Amino acid sequence: MMSVREKIKEFRHTLPTEVELIAVSKFHTVEEIKSVYDTGERHFGESRVQELQNKYTQLPDDIYWHFIGHLQTNKIKYIAPFVSLIHSVDSVKLLEAINREATKINRKLRCLLQVHIASEETKYGFSPEELQELLGTTLLSQLENVEIIGLMGMATNTDNRQQIKEEFAQLRLLYVSLKNEYFASQSSFCELSMGMSQDYAIAIEEGSTMIRVGTAIFGKRTY
Ligand SMILES: *Cc1c(COP(=O)(O)O)cnc(C)c1O
Repeated sequence: MMSVREKIKEFRHTLPTEVELIAVSKFHTVEEIKSVYDTGERHFGESRVQELQNKYTQLPDDIYWHFIGHLQTNKIKYIAPFVSLIHSVDSVKLLEAINREATKINRKLRCLLQVHIASEETKYGFSPEELQELLGTTLLSQLENVEIIGLMGMATNTDNRQQIKEEFAQLRLLYVSLKNEYFASQSSFCELSMGMSQDYAIAIEEGSTMIRVGTAIFGKRTY
């Protein structure tokens, strides 16, 4: 069997250098993360607040921690001091709460707006219409301690590659049109987080700038 170390090296080899790899380490141990870290990776993604907090305290402090799970407003404070990017902002209420916590600690928190592009009901995120509506207001400009640097989305969990491709293409179109319409003067709005172990290659073809990959690097998770 290949070790995590061998897997990550092989995986890294196949990626274009301009795409940011977020190694999704949820449910994996500090030791496993450390072996990936030792190959040079610095971006790791977690989806649960307490797990992220635990790992943060045990691992080197030059890691960029990405929060990719559903975030509850009452838990923002535990990750706000150190989190590098929150990928999963899925409501106005959460955005406002993030701004409050960030203000308290005098940090500007970088966020992606999560867009619902999949056909499943269960995935979190704004609809494209809700996003247009939010950006049409002055709310974002009032949230001075939040910086929106792009969008995140998850495709439907399906074997139908054409469907996945269309969903990513749709997200990319939305990203480009919002960038032109609302973020033309903000050069930091430049990230499109899409692609996981099953579909990252399609996501890259469709213009992803950040892929979030767990299983293909660490192997299967045991819950
Ligand atoms: C778990 C998770 C991933 C990684 O999934 P893999 O299939 O293991 O690559 C990516 N994005 C989000 C939001 C996740 O929750």
